[in-house]
Amino acid sequence: MFETADMSKVIKVCGIEPESIVDGPGFRYVIFVQGCPHHCHGCHNPESWAFEGGMEMTVGEIFDEIKSKSGLRGVTFSGGEPFEQVQPLVDLAKLCKGIGLTVMSYSGYTLEELEARHDSATDELLGMLDILVDGRYDEKLRNLTLIYCGSENQRVIDMKKTRTARESGDHGMVIPYKSGFDFEIKI
Ligand code: SF4
Repeated sequence: MFETADMSKVIKVCGIEPESIVDGPGFRYVIFVQGCPHHCHGCHNPESWAFEGGMEMTVGEIFDEIKSKSGLRGVTFSGGEPFEQVQPLVDLAKLCKGIGLTVMSYSGYTLEELEARHDSATDELLGMLDILVDGRYDEKLRNLTLIYCGSENQRVIDMKKTRTARESGDHGMVIPYKSGFDFEIKI
C-alpha cells in the first residue's frame, strides 16, 4: 500500500485534532478539511466552508504526524466536505490502513449520492472506509443523544459490513454501525 500512495499531494486543512475521543471509536486523529458546498443551517464549523481558506499540508506531512502518535485507533476525515478532496484523502487513507489504523469519514453527501458519481477515486475511498457518517446536518432533526452525528437524518454506516452484504447480493443494503466493546469480557 505504501508504494502506491503519493505523499506529495496537498490537502487543504481547516484544522486538526490529534487526539479526539468524540469523532469515532477510540482515540482518533481528526483532519477537518477546508471547503464545503453544503452550507447546512446550524453548522458548527462554518469557517470550514470557504474553498480558498485554510492551510495546505501534504499527505506526507500529515502522515508523519499520525505515525508519531501512540495509542491511536484510527483517523477521521471531517469537514468541511472530505469528498471534495477525494484524491489526496485516498492516498492518506492507504497509508493509514497500511499501519493498521481504521479510517472513518464524514460527508454531507449521502452514500447513494457518492456512489452515483461513478468516480473511481470516490469509489476507492469508500472501499477503504470502516465507517461513513453521511448526510447533511438538519437542524430541525437535531438530536443530542446521537453518537458521532448531530441530526436524525444522518447515518453512521458500518462500511465493512455494508460492503460484505452487498457482495453477497444485497444491493443497496446499508448496515448501521453499532458501537460497543471490541473485546470479550471473560468471567
Ligand atoms: S456538511 Fe458538515 S461542514 Fe458542511 S455545512 Fe454541513 S455540517 Fe457544516
